[in-house]
Amino acid sequence: MYENPSSYRARKYKDWLLRRANYRCERCGDSKYKLHIHHIIPRKDGGKHTPENLIVLCPSCHQYAEWLYNNGFEVSREILMMC
Ligand SMILES: [Zn+2]
Repeated sequence: MYENPSSYRARKYKDWLLRRANYRCERCGDSKYKLHIHHIIPRKDGGKHTPENLIVLCPSCHQYAEWLYNNGFEVSREILMMC
């Protein structure tokens, strides 16, 4: 099947992010659920597709991260991995 170079790169990048996270949620360490790659600062607010702005989360931590952000809390990888 034909795959264009940018989707190939995107897939490789996703694999790398998941490997960095050890295939677990980077907040709670869970690996039972489907993992999401979350933009810490959303793209609509200028968040970049960089390793610092991306974190692998389970569905409930993903919800929590969005809640924090939407309620005006400061969020970063370090904060999300600690709280
Ligand atoms: Zn989690």
